[in-house]
Amino acid sequence: MPEAAKKSDLSFSLRPIVLAGLFFAFLLLGVTAGFIVYQGNLQKRADEVQMIYKDLLDFRSTLTLIDQQLSVANSRPEVVEEVVRNTKLLQFRANNFQARAGKNNLPELASWMKSRHVDLERMLKDIEMKGGKAGTGISLMTLELDDVILQTAVDARLAIDRVYDVVQLFFLIVLAVFIVIIISAGWLLVSNYRQTVMPLNQLAKKLSMLNEELPESFHDTAEEVKKNIRPEEFSSDVNQITDSIVRFCQNIETKNKKLDELFIKDEKTNLYNYRHFKDHLIVDVARAKRFNDTVSLAMIDIDRFKAYNDANGHVAGDIVLEKMARIIREECRNSDIPARFGGEEFAVLFPRTGSGDAIEIVERLRNIIAAEPFYHEKELPGGQLTISAGIATFPADGVDWYSLINNADKALYHAKQTGRNRVVHFRSLELDESGQN
Ligand code: GH3
Ligand code: MG
Ligand code: MG
Repeated sequence: MPEAAKKSDLSFSLRPIVLAGLFFAFLLLGVTAGFIVYQGNLQKRADEVQMIYKDLLDFRSTLTLIDQQLSVANSRPEVVEEVVRNTKLLQFRANNFQARAGKNNLPELASWMKSRHVDLERMLKDIEMKGGKAGTGISLMTLELDDVILQTAVDARLAIDRVYDVVQLFFLIVLAVFIVIIISAGWLLVSNYRQTVMPLNQLAKKLSMLNEELPESFHDTAEEVKKNIRPEEFSSDVNQITDSIVRFCQNIETKNKKLDELFIKDEKTNLYNYRHFKDHLIVDVARAKRFNDTVSLAMIDIDRFKAYNDANGHVAGDIVLEKMARIIREECRNSDIPARFGGEEFAVLFPRTGSGDAIEIVERLRNIIAAEPFYHEKELPGGQLTISAGIATFPADGVDWYSLINNADKALYHAKQTGRNRVVHFRSLELDESGQN
């Protein structure tokens, strides 16, 4: 997978969360801005209605003053003048009230003030014409004004209540948004815990438990964690992590297998190396000792190989080595351990095998190799490429691994001495010696 694709996959699960967060943040911002403007307007109206209420009280006291002044105006023309002035003032204020009431949505007050404006004008004419003796109807106007003042007081109260209502509504909305955010965050936390933290924990626990069997167990563990959790509950992040672990483990497994092979195999012949052969020999001898069993060992050496190399070169010599190794491998049983002992020498370990069977197998091998055609072998002194072998068997020919090797080597040496292309068992040497004796 390309690097860029991996990155976008990882960030994918975060994108809806970030988008939802931004959406809620903008929503809250919008609601707050709208509220501030709306609440400001309501507050302004509440203040103005309150002010109108206070001004109405003032209006009323001026009206009462006019009423009082009219009662003494007969004998005092300067009072009439003042009454006229005050009435004009009320007329002006009635006009003003009408405009303010209209602006603040108080239609009743507006219409009342409009008709009072007319009344006051009539009253003024009356006063001016009759010198303050007019029947002005102030008492009725005062009674009506009391009603209007009461109504305005109620309106002022309502306007203030409205401001409180809106503030309450705003806080309710904010609370609701916060609850939604808290629930979403909680849900995110829980699902994240279930989909990511839990499986990762499981994975980590398994990994630490199976630490000793690593790395094969890595692979199984990642698969097992996936099996335990339903796929839809598995977050894409965990999927990616487990896939990466599986991939990583598969790589390690492959590399380890190669490493294992390299550790026990000989590169040129693909037979086991001396280290692996020796380890097996030690274990098999110990096991044979314990169970009174037999183990046979053959040392095999190519005859006159130096001459072949000298005549045909080392590359051709290597091909011979590889071909002989393949034949040895094919002629051995699965339980046998064929190895390259060093140079052009091979060793084969035959676990749970007595001398008779070992001789039979190695004889067959010798015959096959002798019959096998090799490149330019005819030019050799004997006209063919052959092998010589020496065999020793536990426990008769040695009670430990190195005496077995030594004695098989001695048998091999004897085979070389007595003409090559031969298989010699160490026992036969001893028999020969005892015969000579
Ligand atoms: P003998 O019958 O007594 O065993 O004679 P020999 O020539 O096989 O014995 P000698 O020990 O004199 O020579 C062994 C030769 O094996 C020498 C060396 O060139 C050859 N040889 C050892 N290892 C390799 C190898 O990996 N590749 C090749 N091509 N030749 C090898
Ligand atoms: Mg040799
Ligand atoms: Mg040789």
